[in-house]
Amino acid sequence: MTQEEARIKGVGASPGIAIGRAYLIDRRKVKTPKRHITASEVEGEQRRFDDALRRSHEQLERVKQKLAERASGDDPFQILEAHQLILRDEHLVEPTLRSIAEEHVNAEWALRKTVEHIKGIFDSVDDQYFRERRSDVDFVGDRVLRNLLGMEQPLAPPPDAIVVAHELSPADIAQLQRAAIAGFLTDVGGKTSHTAILARAVELPAVVGLEDITHRVGNGDLIIIDGTEGEAILHPSAPLVAQYRGRARQHAAREEEQLKTRDLESITRDGHRVRLMANVELNEEVPSALEHGAEGVGLYRTEFLFLGRTSIPTEEDHYQLARRVLDLVGHRPVTFRTFDLGGEKAAAALGQHAPREANPALGLRSVRLCLRERGLFKAQLRGLLRASVHGEVKIMFPMISGVGELREVLAVLDEVKRDLSIEGVAFRPDVPVGIMIEMPSAAMTADLLAPHVSFFAVGTNDLIQYSLAIDRVNEHVGYLYEPLHPAILRQLRFVVQSAHAAGVPVCVCGEMAGEALFLPVLLGLGVDELSMNSLAIPVVKAAIRAADYLASCELAAHVVDLPTASDVESAVRAARD
Ligand code: PEP
Ligand code: MG
Repeated sequence: MTQEEARIKGVGASPGIAIGRAYLIDRRKVKTPKRHITASEVEGEQRRFDDALRRSHEQLERVKQKLAERASGDDPFQILEAHQLILRDEHLVEPTLRSIAEEHVNAEWALRKTVEHIKGIFDSVDDQYFRERRSDVDFVGDRVLRNLLGMEQPLAPPPDAIVVAHELSPADIAQLQRAAIAGFLTDVGGKTSHTAILARAVELPAVVGLEDITHRVGNGDLIIIDGTEGEAILHPSAPLVAQYRGRARQHAAREEEQLKTRDLESITRDGHRVRLMANVELNEEVPSALEHGAEGVGLYRTEFLFLGRTSIPTEEDHYQLARRVLDLVGHRPVTFRTFDLGGEKAAAALGQHAPREANPALGLRSVRLCLRERGLFKAQLRGLLRASVHGEVKIMFPMISGVGELREVLAVLDEVKRDLSIEGVAFRPDVPVGIMIEMPSAAMTADLLAPHVSFFAVGTNDLIQYSLAIDRVNEHVGYLYEPLHPAILRQLRFVVQSAHAAGVPVCVCGEMAGEALFLPVLLGLGVDELSMNSLAIPVVKAAIRAADYLASCELAAHVVDLPTASDVESAVRAARD
């Protein structure tokens, strides 16, 4: 009997098309046994827990090594390292050992209690990115539990399989990629989960968040994954398979074509150069960024260092992270943005229950938090400064509201530099320091800010949010999110003019930079550099190479006087077509 074709919508976690036979993997949580132990059993139980931690660590090490064999150079994966860090984290280890000793319970139960407690802290956070971090603790807890129960087994799907599972951990993805599967589907998961990030890094097509896919699919079923559209097609007909094979070929050809532009110059027809950089959250993304033609990293969102951790990153963590990125990019520049954490995100990372803020976007976030938590801030600055002797490091401060706050931040930087000098620690004293222009107050005082810095980077995501008074993650006001609003364009014009008058270059690093449609406007306003997600680089480069700088200047001068965003958009489209 032939089964009926079914299309199921999920979340496209990693783009591309894969066609193959289903291979179901049972990665559902194992049951945690509870047992009371006697005082004489405590030591043995604690030893069993330590053994399970050690075995888990070794397994992750093996996965990392296998990945490194495949990746260029020694490029150990940050996510897997973060999981190894969790295995050593005092918030995981100490309470579990204590619970075994004081409550006289078995290691499995003590571990479960600890993991639930840590997850509870993450749950109290009102931020999707940080909520998804709880799954890192879950993955690690699950691995240790399976080791305690002797249930941890390597995954072994056949090559070209479509793996279907309730949930997969980043370590699972690393193993599956080694097994040369075609792609994967999961019941749960989101776009910013580490599983999704790793899938993109190793270029495995994937759709997640399909809810009950594990119940709808049988082993050996034919499946199409459309990771670009976020769709799984079960039991496709032969003509549909043929159609998707055609699309897969087109996709591959397009990718190949775009990658060929890697070494082409990012220059307009009339010879004006605009530097193209990548926005990066994790080191894993760097090789792909370079492959897509990035000339460096224009925005490294260092708050991702808090990934899956329950303790604050140390100076050494910052130093090591920066060194690894610098090794990966070679001689190219990397702009490290200091922590851009919201009050609540920080609370999770610090393992505290902070009071809820009524308006977190207007609250104690970013440099405001850093100025209050000086220890956290100084550790980061020390690590970055130490790394500055190993490559082209730039330091950037987010969410600067005006000159007063900038002075305060620069005073901390000076203090840190002085300390390092006294201690005889090497660093580059002239490391370029810039700020993000992402608040209207900063945009309006750009002329006062410019003389104090080496560069500006306009964060349009926040600049739009704060200028137009719309919450950037609130879908109800999404229709008001207009990058081409005259208020935004006029601020951009003033920022660029003020910066250039002081000899300061301007980068745009919000999502707006990665939209080819907006390119002539940004170009015409005089923006010097664009930083974006890597996949957008070849597309924007093509737009730059097709553009004329002088015509773009005329267009920009014209559109800043138009009354609405849609008028601007029409003018931009008319100029393009
Ligand atoms: C921005 O606000 O445009 C930006 C690039 O920073 P983030 O998206 O990390 O807030
Ligand atoms: Mg921002």
